[in-house]
Amino acid sequence: CGIIGCVGREDETLDVLVHGLSKLEYRGYDSAGVALSGERVDVCKKSGEIDDLKRALESRSIDGAAGIGHTRWSTHGPPTDANAHPHLDCTGDVAVVHNGIIENYQSLRDELATAGHTFKSDTDTEVVPHLVEDALADGLDNEAAVREAISRLEGSYAVAVVVSGDDTIYAARNDSPLVLGIDDGDAESEPAYYLASDVPAFRDFTDRVVYLADGEFATLSAEGWRVSDVDGTTVDKDVDTVDWDP
Ligand code: GLU
Repeated sequence: CGIIGCVGREDETLDVLVHGLSKLEYRGYDSAGVALSGERVDVCKKSGEIDDLKRALESRSIDGAAGIGHTRWSTHGPPTDANAHPHLDCTGDVAVVHNGIIENYQSLRDELATAGHTFKSDTDTEVVPHLVEDALADGLDNEAAVREAISRLEGSYAVAVVVSGDDTIYAARNDSPLVLGIDDGDAESEPAYYLASDVPAFRDFTDRVVYLADGEFATLSAEGWRVSDVDGTTVDKDVDTVDWDP
């Protein structure tokens, strides 16, 4: 089970995600998938090995400035393509990856189903994109909508979200690891920012890291990154340098 995210790498986003997923294989997994956000959100996901995902990607053109990827270790629902992450809302505009267990997913799912949402998987995770969808429909902006969805969750989670037409990754954690990778760019290269369950996922690209704490929320775009607390107040985070080689 692992998460990788990347913004700022333009047409390399997909390669960076697949590379990161391979580096997270040691954590164990039964399925893998990616979502890229451009004008729309494109998803490709498969049960089985990362090679199976790579084969599925060969026949697809999938592109976008902000991307998230996931290796799944099933807790709710068998390892099928439908249960693999990322999961989408009804409109297909919101994609979510999640590590952990959402303890109150059944009551959220019942509430959402009553409100007309239809579900395509057996996972606890799938409630999250639908909660974001409802918050967007209520008129919240993307960040506020993701925050609202996260505030409804009980349990353990590292969550990353992309929304169509927005080259931002929104992320949050509680009782599940999540670390940012920071590359502010230089004369030769544009800034790029990463997000992962563990540093090896992006260590080939940067050695500067920001460890998120429980309850923190992060936004990453090509313009920069920000960490905030549950109230939305910016948290002044240390940027550490990892002193080991890839
Ligand atoms: N509970 C989620 C699922 O079963 C996420 C599992 C994981 O951490 O990979 O899909």
